[in-house]
Amino acid sequence: MTTFDPNRFVLEHDQATPKEILRAAYQAFGELTLSFSGAEDVVLVDLALKVAPKDAVHVFALDTGRLHPETYAFIERIREHYHIEIDVRFPDREAVEALVRKKGLFSFYRDGHQECCGIRKVGPLRERLAGLPMWVTGQRRDQSPGTRSSLQIAERDTAFGSEASPLFKINPLTHWSSEEVWTHIRMFDVPYNPLHERGFVSLGCEPCTRPTLPGQHEREGRWWWEDQAGKECGLHAANLATR
Ligand code: SF4
Repeated sequence: MTTFDPNRFVLEHDQATPKEILRAAYQAFGELTLSFSGAEDVVLVDLALKVAPKDAVHVFALDTGRLHPETYAFIERIREHYHIEIDVRFPDREAVEALVRKKGLFSFYRDGHQECCGIRKVGPLRERLAGLPMWVTGQRRDQSPGTRSSLQIAERDTAFGSEASPLFKINPLTHWSSEEVWTHIRMFDVPYNPLHERGFVSLGCEPCTRPTLPGQHEREGRWWWEDQAGKECGLHAANLATR
């Protein structure tokens, strides 16, 4: 069983840069498993490959079946640009078919996004994380005042881990603002999803994401028909539990 202590990791590395946090995480775990959404969290792929050997960096993406065509093209572009494997995970076919048969293709507009996200995102994620000691996410505090304001650079993942199989989340971008992410993307010529040039800030599935206007918070572009404060898709469900 791992002896990783997230509180100690936070004390020792909270003021470190994302690159230093990733290096420390690699030293602690001997590998880095990255969740890549096809958006600006590409920064993590770029940084991880600078601090760890390629065969120790495992990148996965969740294909919900409802992503923008640009996002599929971008995932492929990243695979080719960095010469890496991307483990693209798909939802359970029978569960998707049952949902669509019963409620149609757009049930989330009526019933809320949790059921669809549960099938298309949370299920495949749970399967991907099973048995792992850690995963790296692109969460930032400034992404959602409602659910991410108390985010730490390292946390025990109580949503997907268990007492018997502890899982830790490393969030190297916790203290970075959107501007700092984009400074890195421009400075190091990191490829980015072209949807960002069309006003999309927080990227997700096509039917559930829209561009935001200047001055609007990025989370207003996601699930805009729902309550503003509780916008998590279940990947970071513990954020809601601690609100
Ligand atoms: S973001 Fe929308 S389409 Fe995607 S899984 Fe969630 S509810 Fe379904």
